[in-house]
Amino acid sequence: EWVNFVDFYDRIIDRFEMAKDQNVSFKRQLPTHAIFVEIDEDKMTQVLYNIISNALKYSPEGGLVTFSIKEEEDKIIVSVSDQGVGIPKENISKIFDRFYRVDKARTRKLGGTGLGLAIAKEMVNVHGGMIWAVSEEGKGTEISFSLPYEQTEEDEWS
Ligand code: ATP
Ligand code: MG
Repeated sequence: EWVNFVDFYDRIIDRFEMAKDQNVSFKRQLPTHAIFVEIDEDKMTQVLYNIISNALKYSPEGGLVTFSIKEEEDKIIVSVSDQGVGIPKENISKIFDRFYRVDKARTRKLGGTGLGLAIAKEMVNVHGGMIWAVSEEGKGTEISFSLPYEQTEEDEWS
C-alpha cells in the first residue's frame, strides 16, 4: 500500500522511544514533507524493528541513536546509526548472512540468533532496495537501506 514513509518511520521510532529501558538518546533527521512510497507495512516494520533493535542492543550507556531519511532522485535512503561497539572491517560483508554473528563471546550475553539482518535484507530486496552497513570498531555503526521512489509532480510542488 502507499504510505507516507516519514510518518511511518516516525511512528516506529516513537514506539521504540517509549519502550526503551536504556539510557540512550534518540535524534531524528527527517524531512518535514511527506514522501509516499509503496511498501508492505508489515515487512517494512520488521526491517526497521530488526535494525533498530540492533542499534539499541549494541549501544553503550548514554549513547545516541540517529534516525534519518535522505532523498535522492529516484530513491530514499533510510539510516539508523549508533555509537556502539562497531563491526570489524573483515566481518562487515557477512552480517547480512543467515545465522552470522560477529563475535560469539561478545554477543553471547546479548542473545539473538543472527537472523535479524538476513531477514531485513530479504525484505528490503523484495521492495527493490539495497541494504548496507558502514561501521568503525569502537565508534559505531550505520545501517542504511534504499527504497525506490518516484517523485510525483505533487511532491515537487508541495
Ligand atoms: P537476532 O537479530 O536474530 O536477534 P543478532 O542481532 O545477533 O540476532 P543480526 O541482527 O542479524 O543478528 O546481526 C548480525 C550480527 O551483526 C550481530 O550478531 C552483531 O555481531 C552484528 N551487528 C548488527 N548490528 C550491529 C550494530 N548496530 N552494532 C554492532 N554490531 C552489530
Ligand atoms: Mg539483531
